Amino acid sequence: MNIRCLHLDMKSLFPEADYLLSLLKRFADMGYTHILLEFEDKFPFEAYPYSTHPAAYSKQQFQAVAEQCRKLGLGVIPLLQCAGHLDYFLRHEKYRKWSENGNVYQWCLSDPETWEVWQNMLHEILAIFPDCEYFHIGADELQLNSPCARCAEKNPFRVYLDRVRQCTDLLLAKGKKVLVWDDMFRNHNTPETRELLSKVIPCVWQYRQVDESIVQRYSAEGVSYWAASRIQTNARYLGMGKQRPMQQNVDDWAEIQQKYPAAGHIGTLWGRIQSLYPINTTLPQAMYMAGYLAETLKHGKIRDRKQFNQAFAETFFGLPGLDLDTIVYGFSNEPELVKCNLEPWLGKALRNNDILEIWYAFNEIDLLYDYIDLCFSSNDAMLMQYRNGNVTSAILNNWKDGVKLVQERTEALSTKLDQMLGKYYPLNQLVEFKNSRFLSMLENNARWGEILQDACRKTHL
Ligand SMILES: [Zn+2]
Repeated sequence: MNIRCLHLDMKSLFPEADYLLSLLKRFADMGYTHILLEFEDKFPFEAYPYSTHPAAYSKQQFQAVAEQCRKLGLGVIPLLQCAGHLDYFLRHEKYRKWSENGNVYQWCLSDPETWEVWQNMLHEILAIFPDCEYFHIGADELQLNSPCARCAEKNPFRVYLDRVRQCTDLLLAKGKKVLVWDDMFRNHNTPETRELLSKVIPCVWQYRQVDESIVQRYSAEGVSYWAASRIQTNARYLGMGKQRPMQQNVDDWAEIQQKYPAAGHIGTLWGRIQSLYPINTTLPQAMYMAGYLAETLKHGKIRDRKQFNQAFAETFFGLPGLDLDTIVYGFSNEPELVKCNLEPWLGKALRNNDILEIWYAFNEIDLLYDYIDLCFSSNDAMLMQYRNGNVTSAILNNWKDGVKLVQERTEALSTKLDQMLGKYYPLNQLVEFKNSRFLSMLENNARWGEILQDACRKTHL
């Protein structure tokens, strides 16, 4: 495997620029050769200032990222979507005129102005990363079923292909190799897509079960492909997330790549499903899986996870006594167990103590939700009795306390998260992250407060 790449999705709760520089060093040490940088609204486009997020990096900070990567021998692959996944941009009133039939997810590909816009954005990105060998143009998950009148007149898929070809040709002329996510190509196997596949490198993303037939086809047609696995959980909007399905995905890919060797592999770290979705997770959380994937890409499928965990605890943290078996299994399954096993080691790691701190902080969210689940599910089950007055006042008071406690614990954790994570993340992003985790839960909790208040007015056993 020549290319071992990590996808860094900036639309997540993304680290401060200085902290990212130190993370990059660790990725390089693990054996990664490239990073795929998905900017979204974190790139300060001078031509389109309204799309810039308050936590965006400055151009100087991106230059520092470029410089650090150069020093570390890490190639930077910029990612600029050419067709869809543009909600971060088109949702702004100023730019909505370019959306496709009112759909801010993608822009109109018949509109020559969107081609101009894309080139302007490309120009600004390449000014920071002029020596990149690869450039990723996304091109995935287009919605072709509701075209505008102009696109409907032609064949919408052909309009899409024309634009992808246009972007590709421009980049090829600049001496870049062009990457695309492959789903549109895998779903439209035509002479035209096959012709285009000879110019681009399809990145086959398969995050659950790996469908072997896709790579089998590429392999049979002599198309050089990159594989893409998922090393960031997105199942629940809570804390650390389950590691097992990601380990499985990486293991499955290792077996497929043995049969159909890929020219590169991208470990994807999706920060959100789309720009308008809640923030999933974040980069340092994925450090364990980044290590797991790096090891797999170097030596093939990990046969003994226990052994890998032992080695990771020792080499990455300098803590041979750290029980990673229990911790990794416990993430999002048994947060209490994780807490017991992590706490004694905080501040004691010889290396990468920050990662332990961050894991600990996110596990605290899982722990809070464990308590909330207990309260809410019991409340749900007891609702009939509350209404009928068939509970003892002791039980009723107990649940009233629960409602109060949830409120208090959430407030306390919110302050704690600012302290624990504020060193690593921009505060305005942290606010958004906490809101997406806590707001609706707190509203739900407040409603329970009212229900129980009401129940108390009845005579109970
Ligand atoms: Zn259109």
